[in-house]
Amino acid sequence: MKTLQELTRPNIWKLKPYSSARDEYKGVTASVFLDANENPYNLPHNRYPDPMQWDLKTELSKIKKVSPEHIFLGNGSDEAIDLVFRAFCEPAKDNVVAIDPTYGMYQVCADVNDVEYRKVLLDDNFQFTADKLLAAADDHTKLIFLCSPNNPTGNDLLRTEIEKLLREFDGLVILDEAYNDFSEAPSFLEELNRYPNLIVFQTFSKAWGCAAIRLGMAFASEEIIGILSKIKYPYNVNQLTQQQAISMLHKYDEIERWVRTLKEERDYLEKEFEQFPCTVKMFPSDANFFLAKVTDAVKIYNYLVGEGIIVRNRNSISLCGNCLRVTVGTRVENDTLLEALKKYQG
Ligand SMILES: *Cc1c(COP(=O)(O)O)cnc(C)c1O
Repeated sequence: MKTLQELTRPNIWKLKPYSSARDEYKGVTASVFLDANENPYNLPHNRYPDPMQWDLKTELSKIKKVSPEHIFLGNGSDEAIDLVFRAFCEPAKDNVVAIDPTYGMYQVCADVNDVEYRKVLLDDNFQFTADKLLAAADDHTKLIFLCSPNNPTGNDLLRTEIEKLLREFDGLVILDEAYNDFSEAPSFLEELNRYPNLIVFQTFSKAWGCAAIRLGMAFASEEIIGILSKIKYPYNVNQLTQQQAISMLHKYDEIERWVRTLKEERDYLEKEFEQFPCTVKMFPSDANFFLAKVTDAVKIYNYLVGEGIIVRNRNSISLCGNCLRVTVGTRVENDTLLEALKKYQG
């Protein structure tokens, strides 16, 4: 791996971060707060939230078994995705490499930041090789994006290839584990100490059932987390979100039950979906959704919309011609979809 200074944009490396009122009193015990120009009325929403979210990170570290210094929290994973471009990629000069197809936000953030986005097509089993990604990289490649289980394909990426990439790439590897809770594959969080160039993304939006509160997590070395924390908006995670996340962490057993139920529902839905005459091919899933090739994705998508059922049409995505992506819902929702498809006349 190159040094972190070599990988970081010079202006970011030099940056002296904004110091908020709440940063400066840190560590002191006080009862009168006249430092931040807040309104003393309208408790408890009148005060700025903890800019570093220490209470939440402390609770989270118990479940994730990663110390708080290795955790960055953002306004959804989207914030973390954007920040890695802003921290490490010099616009119009650096580039990133990513598997294709994958989550669309990586390319959107690359385009916003004027950073070249190099796509490397997956194979017919939606797998990649480290060698192909490395061949697409050059001296200006700062980041390689992986997503496992991958969206929209649903499968875990090969662990041996991920490890090889981590060993051989001299930049940073972003591994998006938004759907790892639904997979049997162990998280790479356990490997953080082994790979200084690894950044793992997770989210409260899927297994945790908290898409509305906008909370994403990045896990990496203390040095990388320090850089992301330095350039984020000072109060990027609001107080209501921090409180709701802490209360979710206190009922972790319920999240585990949801995950077990959704995995059973996935198996049920896949087994039934496979039977329809309009189903051409089912792709194996390690996530809370699956991808299926159908006879005519546009027609079936529109038919389902007419029935009040929305799935995701992935027809125009690389390797996903005539594919629909279906999220696993409750048994009632899944049966509504299955009943509608039973009535469908190709
Ligand atoms: C849904 C999803 C996320 C979550 O994004 P948030 O901004 O945290 O809601 C991240 N990565 C992938 C691949 C996803 O599909």
